[in-house]
Parts: sequence; structure tokens; C-alpha cells
Amino acid sequence: MQIVVLLIAFGFVMFFARRNAPTRGCRWPADATGDRGALRKYKCAACGAEAFTSTKGSPNDCRSKLKTPNL
Ligand SMILES: [Zn+2]
Repeated sequence: MQIVVLLIAFGFVMFFARRNAPTRGCRWPADATGDRGALRKYKCAACGAEAFTSTKGSPNDCRSKLKTPNL
């Protein structure tokens, strides 16, 4: 019985760890049509999230998790 409780607890930990980790498979091709001055627009090809950066390079993490409501 204790092993079942342990497995459930482990499952919860993995679930929340995954939620907070950057989404894998996100790719950020630059969308030059959406540039705003010095801000470069990127649109995630995997999940459709949009992000602006003022520095070189694409965003590292996916912005879609910001929209996820907290339970
Ligand atoms: Zn994404």
C-alpha cells in the first residue's frame, strides 16, 4: 500500500516539474512582419505562442505556459 502512495506522490512531482520546465519541441522562427521597432517578433512553430525580444536570438522558453491557469 505504501508503494502505491509513493508512486502517486512521484507522479505529482513529475507532473509539476514538467509544467514548470520549458516546453520541448518549441521552435522560434522570426516573424519579420510583426517587428515593432527594435523588438523582434517570434512565433512558436510548435504551440503558436508569440514573443518579442530586444536582443539577438530567439526566446529560450515557451511563453504558452504563461497562459496556463493555475489550479
Ligand atoms: Zn511553444
